[in-house]
Amino acid sequence: MNSKKLGKIYLVGSGPGDPELLTIKARRLIDEAEVIVYDQLPGKQILASMPEDAEKIDAGKYAGSHTLRQEQINQVLVDKAKEGKNVVRLKGGDPYVFGRGGEEAQVLVANGIEVEIVPGITSAIAAPAYAGIPVTHRDHASMVTFITGHEDPTKEDSALDWDALAKFSGTIVILMGVSMLPRNVNELMKHGKDPATPVALIERGTRPDQRTTVGTLENIVKLAEERGVKAPAITIIGGVVTLHDELGELR
Ligand code: SAH
Repeated sequence: MNSKKLGKIYLVGSGPGDPELLTIKARRLIDEAEVIVYDQLPGKQILASMPEDAEKIDAGKYAGSHTLRQEQINQVLVDKAKEGKNVVRLKGGDPYVFGRGGEEAQVLVANGIEVEIVPGITSAIAAPAYAGIPVTHRDHASMVTFITGHEDPTKEDSALDWDALAKFSGTIVILMGVSMLPRNVNELMKHGKDPATPVALIERGTRPDQRTTVGTLENIVKLAEERGVKAPAITIIGGVVTLHDELGELR
């Protein structure tokens, strides 16, 4: 029997990419880690700051060019903890805002492994902020909702209630929304949202090459095509987007 003491897993949010937006705790845990399991979402600058002597496991590209599936990522985390290692599972933004951090925590807890969560600054708020767009504002939105833009379109019962979203008077922030942008804006308009509603796409938010594209529900798909908008990007919909012109990129 393996009597070795179990290691601990830190589920650490890296924030949206600007290294100065890492929390002090995240920075310390990264610097002290024996193993870091990461993917590309934290961005080049933060990934480049991982300590040399830590074992680094790319969960996005593991075992040659194959992508590590979620079950394999979970298994690696369990195995490393069983080896007695202190492991940082580094996740972009906040670990529990999409990105499956909750599922990883469930597997670890079920395996009797000690987990500590280190919240991070989510890109859902920080990317718009750097683009001069507050997610709430007294004149524009008293509510905000975060949705996944990448639901499987063949899924019969969408978890997204497009009817409710079209009626929603607050700000809608879509994560993972680039590839399904046409479907998402069409659903909103089909369910009655005003085609003139302002929309912004913020690519690589808080990174040196952040780029913002502003339009409306009606023209944003065309603009995104023209400008070659790519993931990772935040889609933000609602009156708050008009503040981009007034506030500009604030960083
Ligand atoms: N946990 C992350 C989100 C993971 S889902 C967070 O809290 O930020 C992955 C999605 O996050 C991407 O498809 C994109 O929509 C968004 N995202 C993450 N980092 C981003 C960044 N720096 N700029 C824009 N979008 C980002």
